[in-house]
Amino acid sequence: MPLVPMRVILEAAEKGGYGVGAFNVNNMEQAQGIMKAAVETNSPLIYQVSRGALQYSNKTILRDIILAVSAQTPELPVAVHLDHGNSPESCKEAIELGFTSVMMDGSLQADGKTPADYDYNMKATKEVVDMAHAKGVTVEGEIGQLGGIEDGHGSGEEKVTDPPDVKKLFDDTKMDACALAWGTSHGAYKSTTGKPPVLRHDIIAEVHKLAPEIFIVSHGSSSVPANLVDAVNSFGVIKKYKSEDGHRHLAGYGEDFDLDADDAKKIVDFLYESERMPKSVGVPMADLKKGIQNGVRKINVDTDGRLAVTAAILSVMQEKPSEFDPRKYLGPAREAVYEFAKNAMQGFGSVEHAGDVEIVSLEEMSKRYK
Ligand SMILES: [Zn+2]
Repeated sequence: MPLVPMRVILEAAEKGGYGVGAFNVNNMEQAQGIMKAAVETNSPLIYQVSRGALQYSNKTILRDIILAVSAQTPELPVAVHLDHGNSPESCKEAIELGFTSVMMDGSLQADGKTPADYDYNMKATKEVVDMAHAKGVTVEGEIGQLGGIEDGHGSGEEKVTDPPDVKKLFDDTKMDACALAWGTSHGAYKSTTGKPPVLRHDIIAEVHKLAPEIFIVSHGSSSVPANLVDAVNSFGVIKKYKSEDGHRHLAGYGEDFDLDADDAKKIVDFLYESERMPKSVGVPMADLKKGIQNGVRKINVDTDGRLAVTAAILSVMQEKPSEFDPRKYLGPAREAVYEFAKNAMQGFGSVEHAGDVEIVSLEEMSKRYK
């Protein structure tokens, strides 16, 4: 089956009252791990590709990997979505690449950093809607400002969404879906208090009531599970080398120690206490489930997939230090992505819902938009 517009996946989710994960993908192992989870749980699937991922993979290559992986399971509905398009041009490029959904993030200007005003957002989103709907492609907008920065994207300032703004942006543009700022944030560091971020469930409920036609999207929704952060932190990577004076050195965590001159206890203490990443707390699954009850239909998760890959690779490097075949650590990374994605699909409630999705071609969808 060719890919489906994201809209039909979200329509089914709205009818069934569940959420669908949108999983960021950068390479073959992630694409396969996520697909394995979707097939095993019989979940509809949204692959999500950032501009950074497109650049990393030379554009058509990542698209071709996704198409090749999707072609192996023709019975499963799959949408391919551009995450955080920063301009109508970047959305156009994704549509030309064959994406079935694009995000025009007009909450920020084209630099991906400076907050934009309503007028800018509306015009950019409308331009993308006109272009995308003519081809049957789904459009996600954004209003309000999420905290955090990921892939260089984000203003670093948070401004929660005002529900009437969403209704207005919908009325003015006819976008299909909208990302709301309701307390989640991009990246691994969502909270500085050691407690989960405080979410504004009232915003989701209010938007769902005001504009039920809109599919609500939650960005920055990784759970940042403590077991993955702990796993990453338990594997140090230490470099050893000899300096010109013949002294033996150990270097790690930004420090360099001379084993033949420095205090041994100081070195050992430092290496033991150092952690690769600061302790962090994400969005608990219980909060996401409540958000889904209130109307969230698409849940973006990127960070958790990155953590899963990193923890798996470090684990192989540690346990089999003589291993140097990339398949021997990328294979376990692929399995770790599968495990993480399966958990997410179970949590969001999309399991056994692949069959709900109406199979519609982009061409047919373009007629429905008219
Ligand atoms: Zn985002």
